[in-house]
Amino acid sequence: MPNIDLLDTAQVSSVVKRHKLVGMIGKEKKWDIGVSPSVPNSRNPIRTTLELITSQPPNPINGPTRSLINLGLGDPTHYPLHPPPEGAIDAITRALKSGKANGYLPGAGSLQARSAVVDYHERWDGVTHGVGQGLDLILSVLIPHQTVQKCNVLLPRPGFAQYATLLANLGTDVRYYDLLEEQGWEIDLSSLEDSIDGGTKAIILTNPSNPCGSNYSRSHLQALLDIAEQHKVPIISDEIYGHMTWDKPFVPLASLSRSVPIITLAGLSKRFLVPGWRFGWVCLHDPLCLATKVREGMHVWANRFMGPNSLVQAALPDILATPGSWFKVVMDKIQLNAHILTTAINTIPGLSCAAPSGALYMLVKIDSSRLHMSDIDFCTSLYREEALFVLPGICFEAPGYFRAVLSTPADVMQDVALRLRAFCHRHGGKVCI
Ligand SMILES: *Cc1c(COP(=O)(O)O)cnc(C)c1O
Repeated sequence: MPNIDLLDTAQVSSVVKRHKLVGMIGKEKKWDIGVSPSVPNSRNPIRTTLELITSQPPNPINGPTRSLINLGLGDPTHYPLHPPPEGAIDAITRALKSGKANGYLPGAGSLQARSAVVDYHERWDGVTHGVGQGLDLILSVLIPHQTVQKCNVLLPRPGFAQYATLLANLGTDVRYYDLLEEQGWEIDLSSLEDSIDGGTKAIILTNPSNPCGSNYSRSHLQALLDIAEQHKVPIISDEIYGHMTWDKPFVPLASLSRSVPIITLAGLSKRFLVPGWRFGWVCLHDPLCLATKVREGMHVWANRFMGPNSLVQAALPDILATPGSWFKVVMDKIQLNAHILTTAINTIPGLSCAAPSGALYMLVKIDSSRLHMSDIDFCTSLYREEALFVLPGICFEAPGYFRAVLSTPADVMQDVALRLRAFCHRHGGKVCI
């Protein structure tokens, strides 16, 4: 571009004309910055429902000063239940002060962090496997774009809403398989098998379950593996709540599979009580080397970004070495809360639940013949009248239920039981004892 100061007027007018002409060729172009049609489908139903229920502040019937109890968000630091492991905090501090953990690392994670994950699974699960990064990562690698091939993924119902949210972007079909409340939320295996066809790319399993609080037996997991083997479908096993169980031990799916490729997801958010540290991992257990392409694909995909957080990776060997006694203290607290709430709920007319045995949650059934309201109405009125927030089942494809989070101090849980009882008493057809 010539310097306008040095041009005579004729030159200036020709420069101006040229600029105007560019904008006037044909019809004037309008701004049109659109978004992908996947955007509306990618909305997180939990956030939307939360805004709906809490749009008006609570006005508790038993006094406006009553404090709000939030059992809605699956964040164990909300109250907090228990501080994170001291060793983990020390290790992060050391990594930070060392000045050696500030740089970019390989997309799939540092060697040191990856071998710490391998050791962790060896110690807790009795399995070894390679390591990658993220649910989004594995879904993006595993599922062809819809323009290439029509395919589907099987999700649990009730289940974690984020799976469908992530899948929306990939244009794949989502199919649900049912979980059966009367069988401790086990999988309805025949409904699952009926949903499988030639386009099924993966079955997603959440064990222990959010929102059901279930923990599957070895034989039930084996039955699932038999179906996957027969139809040659890999399983993505979300074990973010792995080992957060009581009553019976947790069985990692990969420890049972002799053929079916298992992609296990785990991380620090729940078991180590640090969801804000944003750290998890993917393990590929592939005894017959059937998914070598997936392993390579995950490495390629992982390098689209500059890899996970360097501080957490540097501290990971120490974080994952947290002693079993620390986990035991946390699990005893969650189990006590589960016991308090299950006992209370099963004596409140209008509510019932299967006793949870893992994760951080329980799913409670609202008897509509007695309480005459939808789960959304129940949760909205409970919030307004009792200042108690729980999430309606519709957030988890489970209308007619609500989910309660079990990571409060026990005395808060006693208060939760009282508020639920008072609410159901007021709205129920029959008088509570
Ligand atoms: C909380 C949760 C996760 C993962 O959380 P991150 O913080 O993203 O690691 C994954 N699956 C389920 C079922 C969860 O409840």
